[in-house]
Amino acid sequence: MKVEIINQLKDNYSFVLYNDTLKSCVIDPADSTPILNFVFENNLFIEDIFITHHHEDHTSGVKGILNAFPEVKIHSPNAQIENTRFVLRDQDEVNSCLNAFKIIKTPGHTLDHIIYYDEKNGFLFCGDTLFRLGCGRVFEGTLNEMFNSLQKINKLDKNTIIYCGHEYTLNNLNFLEKILKKEEAYLTVRSKINEDLNNKGKSIPFLLQDEQSYNLFLNQNSKLGTLIKKELGLTDFELFAYLRKAKDSF
Ligand SMILES: [Zn+2]
Repeated sequence: MKVEIINQLKDNYSFVLYNDTLKSCVIDPADSTPILNFVFENNLFIEDIFITHHHEDHTSGVKGILNAFPEVKIHSPNAQIENTRFVLRDQDEVNSCLNAFKIIKTPGHTLDHIIYYDEKNGFLFCGDTLFRLGCGRVFEGTLNEMFNSLQKINKLDKNTIIYCGHEYTLNNLNFLEKILKKEEAYLTVRSKINEDLNNKGKSIPFLLQDEQSYNLFLNQNSKLGTLIKKELGLTDFELFAYLRKAKDSF
């Protein structure tokens, strides 16, 4: 199975999953035009759309895709998301035309947020729950809910390849360097990210294992996380909450 990352709006990502059968699925469409351009150029047929949460920058492309493919099945966590045909719940197993996803509920950014885990292929589509070196803003849930949601990702197979909903990586990196005052700890990360951005114009996908070392929103028990917790006298949750609150005004 291949994954095409489609640039959307200012800094959003949507994804087209496809293989040699020419069937395809779309995740979080915001703007249908570049998605349909890719699909038509490759003679693909869209059978399923999967949505992570109700925000418009993850759903507004549904209409355009429906116009082109009226039979498309729309899966979302929330019946109020327009055109939803299948409502997905925590721990559901859902088959697309190409693969199987396990649904993991991750409230925090929104209350309806879910993520799509393809264990067999080792992919995770995490919407606005986790970003590279950051996490989503807590709009609807509590900090506790967001912390628990991120821990669910932290427990997945460390070789999972993660596709997130936005290109916020450089800003997240600048934030972590500044607040932790540990610029030297991020030297290798910065050069890897610069390399990704120079070569591909984007910093995703990324590997869970790498995030577990450097993303202190996700994992507070890395070498760096343990050091920071000791310096500041904080628990895992307190370190997460401290970072999330500080990031809101960065
Ligand atoms: Zn969102």
